Parts: sequence; structure tokens; C-alpha cells
Amino acid sequence: MGQKILVVEDNELNLKLFCDLLRAHGYEAEPVRDGREAMERARDFAPDLIIMDIQMPYISGLELIEQLKADDALKVIPIMAVTAYAAKGDEQRIRDAGAEGYVSKPISVLRFVEAVAALLVRESESLNIG
Ligand code: MN
Repeated sequence: MGQKILVVEDNELNLKLFCDLLRAHGYEAEPVRDGREAMERARDFAPDLIIMDIQMPYISGLELIEQLKADDALKVIPIMAVTAYAAKGDEQRIRDAGAEGYVSKPISVLRFVEAVAALLVRESESLNIG
């Protein structure tokens, strides 16, 4: 069984693209379409990585990153934010909220997969040290 990745994304096409890509690379991908379910699904699924869209209805990815990083059980899971915003300062805001990685849309498939792999390697290295 591959490493588990929770994908929080309200756009159905992007959600399918991300999950298909991850599965093609041997990961177990779990889709979440509604950000309001993200915290509970993260607890149930116990992912090794969370991919987080930023622009979503009801609750933004930024708010969710802050909630995840404020949760003692969930804050250790690395988060890769994905956003169409290209405005100056956005990447810093996302990193300040606690995201470990950042990829802008439209994604480059290669960069997306590399960023996922890099975050998972970093995670397993820090576990080995611990
Ligand atoms: Mn969105």
C-alpha cells in the first residue's frame, strides 16, 4: 500500500487530475470536495500528506491550514498548498499559515509530483531522526 494523501479541492476536474496523478505514482489518494469535511476526514484517513486548494467555498484553504496546524494530532502532517493566486505575498501568507509546500495552478505535472515526493521524503527523514 502506498503512502496516503488527502486531496482537498472543490473543483471536480482538478480533484480528479490530482488523484489520478497521485494514484499513477503509487500513492493512495483520498478526495475531499467540501472543505468543511477536511478536519474530520484528516482524522479518519490519517494521511501522510495533505494537498490543499486555497480558493474554496465555505472555508478557505488558508483557514484549514491554520486549523490543521493548531491541532495537536494533525499538525505533524505536511501540507502542500495549491493555488491559482499569483499575487505577490500569497506564497508567504500560505507559508506563514504553516504549509510546508506550495505549488501554483495551472500545475506542471512534473513539478507537482516532485513537490509531493519531496514533502514525503522530508517527513520520513524527520520520523527517522525522531
Ligand atoms: Mn478551488
